[in-house]
Amino acid sequence: MAALAGISEEERVAKYPSLEEAMPEVYKQLFEIQKKLEEHAKDMQDLEFTIQEGRLWLLQTRTGKRTGFAMVKIAMDMVREGLIDEKTALLRMEPNKLDELLHPVFSQEGLAKAKEIAKGLPASPGAATGQIVFFAEDAEAWAAQGKKVILCRLETSPEDLRGMAVAQGILTARGGMTSHAAVVARGMGKCCVTGAGSIVIDYKNRTMTTRGKTYHEGDWISLNGSTGQVFEGKIETVAPELSGDFAELMQLADKYTRMYVRTNADTPQDATVARKFGARGIGLCRTEHMFFTGVRINAMREMILADNEEGRRKALDKLLPMQRSDFEGIFTAMDGFPVTIRLLDPPLHEFLPQEENQQKEIANALGITLEKVKERVNALHELNPMLGHRGCRVGNTYPEITEMQTRAIIEAALNVKAKGIKVIPEIMVPLVGIETEFKMQEDIIRNTAEKIFEEKGDRVEFLVGTMIEVPRATLVADKIAERAEFFSFGTNDLTQMTFGYSRDDVGVFLPIYLEKNILKNDPFQILDQEGVGQLVQIGTERGRKTRPNLKVGICGEHGGEPSSVEFCHRVGMDYVSCSPYRVPIARVAAAMAAIRK
Ligand code: PEP
Ligand code: MG
Repeated sequence: MAALAGISEEERVAKYPSLEEAMPEVYKQLFEIQKKLEEHAKDMQDLEFTIQEGRLWLLQTRTGKRTGFAMVKIAMDMVREGLIDEKTALLRMEPNKLDELLHPVFSQEGLAKAKEIAKGLPASPGAATGQIVFFAEDAEAWAAQGKKVILCRLETSPEDLRGMAVAQGILTARGGMTSHAAVVARGMGKCCVTGAGSIVIDYKNRTMTTRGKTYHEGDWISLNGSTGQVFEGKIETVAPELSGDFAELMQLADKYTRMYVRTNADTPQDATVARKFGARGIGLCRTEHMFFTGVRINAMREMILADNEEGRRKALDKLLPMQRSDFEGIFTAMDGFPVTIRLLDPPLHEFLPQEENQQKEIANALGITLEKVKERVNALHELNPMLGHRGCRVGNTYPEITEMQTRAIIEAALNVKAKGIKVIPEIMVPLVGIETEFKMQEDIIRNTAEKIFEEKGDRVEFLVGTMIEVPRATLVADKIAERAEFFSFGTNDLTQMTFGYSRDDVGVFLPIYLEKNILKNDPFQILDQEGVGQLVQIGTERGRKTRPNLKVGICGEHGGEPSSVEFCHRVGMDYVSCSPYRVPIARVAAAMAAIRK
């Protein structure tokens, strides 16, 4: 037994003996019984017992609850002891609990002294400690000086992305589990607490007040993204341990799985993290995320504000080298594995600022009037942008965008191939609902690629495929598969369009629907197998009727959710793709599905 502070070992034994020291016989008996029960149940037991007048009474035994760490250790210990076989060990997993093992945690000593100052939702797991900043630009500037920061906002928007990327963690006063902050943080594998309602943020004075105390910019706080707790001050964190039992479990998963797991990653850094977690390729690289960083956003805005094709091409020429170098980085990180790159998807208005001072800045930078910028912003305004001018509809109205992106992908592929890296590019067209939409994009892609092969005197194999995310696409999948070489189910949009729920507005009524049991689960997190699942099945079957070797995967949020992964296995998908930190979860879920058949 561990020594107690301030007293000698003799004193401790006299005052606080362990059961073994106080009643060695009873202890021995209890130890033997628990061993027998564990061997009988072949699982760790939670025993209830009492000792009365020196006699042991066993009141109850049941399978013990366990943390993620314990779940893996117990299973792997039992495999080694020969108590259970490998498949049973895998079937004992609750894949979501693996998340605990993948993120930093607070040290026990640090946590013992920590003072909770607010509680929100556990939006993205892990532990983070840093200095308070309230603005994304400050997060960037402070991080550039080597400081650790926590970005604290009422809520976040795409303009905060760069600040979020450099922060240790993100705290928002508002928002739920599917708010922008939550979804983006999970994607980045970054600790995040959302909806910490007791926090009042004063941007003007750069303070936040909670439970009667005010904290200033630069003060230290700590977040536990697994519990939603916010603590005062700095708490030491401990990095995750990915070797040992965890690594052995992952090897077992790969031994029994049929589907393999890719990752959704937009940067070489994310791709590298995902490879560490065992991703075997990229299933979705959202190219638009690259347009938000650095000077790229200016070139992107110039392209959108251009009056004609010539103006657009001029701006696209500026974007080309930046995209190309991004792709080189990603191909290099994924050496030997396929990389699916999706062409531009969001509506263009997302790239233009809504605030007048930023609009003025753009006008000045481009030498155009503020009115002109405003006119364009108004012209791009859509009543329902999710169902508006986005996806391949943009690529088919402005083919030069598809041309530039294809050039960036193919040139990057040839450049890294020349360095001896094995590159397997897959170009993916988003939001296809009509086979002609796909064909038009495919023609641009293939013609552009051929031109580059001639220019460079070298070639590279690549595939052209499509997202299946519009309900119509699932119904005419046989026609789309005449040309498309792979399908990737975008179940975020497919869920949106099948239910008719706007992804951005569902938060208003979803909690009520869940409370009233109209919906059992949030269909944006757990695939609705009954409805949306039927379309996935129909799309897969019809696609493979035309092209039996059609490669089929999923890249919506559901690709890392265990019950949805099991469904993907049952419909015969080749792979699932999910954010880097969900890769181990998906690997285990895929193996469990294969074992269950
Ligand atoms: C999807 O719709 O499922 C998808 C992966 O694309 P996005 O979330 O970027 O619309
Ligand atoms: Mg989509």
